[in-house]
Amino acid sequence: MERLDTLLMQEKRPKSFKVHYTWIYVTERCNLHCDYCFFRHMHGREISLDAVEQLFLLFEREETAPTTLIFSGGEAFLAKENLFKILNEAHQRLKETSLHIQTNGLLINAADIVQLRELGVSLEFGIDGNSQTTLEHRCGLKPASFEKLTNTIAQCVAAGISCGSTMTVHPHEVEHMEQGLDFLRSIGMPHVDITPAAFMPWTPELVASFKKNYLALARCRERRRVMYANEDIEWISPGVMDLSLHPPNYLFGGDAFLCLPEEKRLEFTLWNPVNGQFRPEIMSIYEDAYAKMHQQHPRLPYREHVCHSFELMNTMMGTEYMNTWAINDIMRFLTKTHLRLRLKKYGHDQGH
Ligand code: SF4
Repeated sequence: MERLDTLLMQEKRPKSFKVHYTWIYVTERCNLHCDYCFFRHMHGREISLDAVEQLFLLFEREETAPTTLIFSGGEAFLAKENLFKILNEAHQRLKETSLHIQTNGLLINAADIVQLRELGVSLEFGIDGNSQTTLEHRCGLKPASFEKLTNTIAQCVAAGISCGSTMTVHPHEVEHMEQGLDFLRSIGMPHVDITPAAFMPWTPELVASFKKNYLALARCRERRRVMYANEDIEWISPGVMDLSLHPPNYLFGGDAFLCLPEEKRLEFTLWNPVNGQFRPEIMSIYEDAYAKMHQQHPRLPYREHVCHSFELMNTMMGTEYMNTWAINDIMRFLTKTHLRLRLKKYGHDQGH
């Protein structure tokens, strides 16, 4: 009987499971309310530490580990105690995994910088260019806190922490991309991921302007040096997936599902958080989507995988929840541009 149970379990398991990136959303709280925020349904909850333990056990059981464990929120440093608890645990148990935090940078202090450096954590700051552009869309940010943020970035870079930024481009800001990138270069930002704000009302004209302006930046050798292209240089093979853990204990097969409303989280969570076992009926949805994605080209740039996740998210919603036409068009353009211009990879994936 025991043998039969084991065989049944094996049958239900994915044929080959390998995790690439994993996000842990430590809190749903944030000290800003950016107009383009992708996290559409925040309920003020924190991540369950029991769920994090189940996630680490899942990695051990499946004999896999993420290349990068990404901590995010809300604002991750609002849940500082849990954040550092999980970072320390990951540092002990996932030796080959890079540790990375996405943050708006407003709550990082000198003691945090020391700990982050000791743990070998890299940082990704959300800053959209100069103060005017950033204050316009990162609602709640004041000029004094913008100045504090740029000082914090300088301190982190000086401390030897690997830093970069996501420069989110609102459709209203496509004509300010050059200004934004040059400002970030002027404050010593080592690399910048210029990314379109996904849920905003992109029109064909705005998409065309984004591409034209981006191409002009990428053709300039000095600017190209800081432009982030990892997502186009990393390749995804069949059987490889991302995971993301959301408060209090939902698990999804990638980052795009951050924007799902509560009822969809309940419906599509990938596991039973009590025993960490996958729900086979949900896993098969991802497997079918991946099989379709890899049908023509088994090996794909990572950004292509993200485009398919957006489409899967719309399928889960049963509606055109997000304008995938515009975002996926820009994403595929970024991949083509980065590959054609041979942009280099920036490293936060060396393990610690
Ligand atoms: S800082 Fe990040 S999580 Fe907070 S509102 Fe802005 S985009 Fe959303």
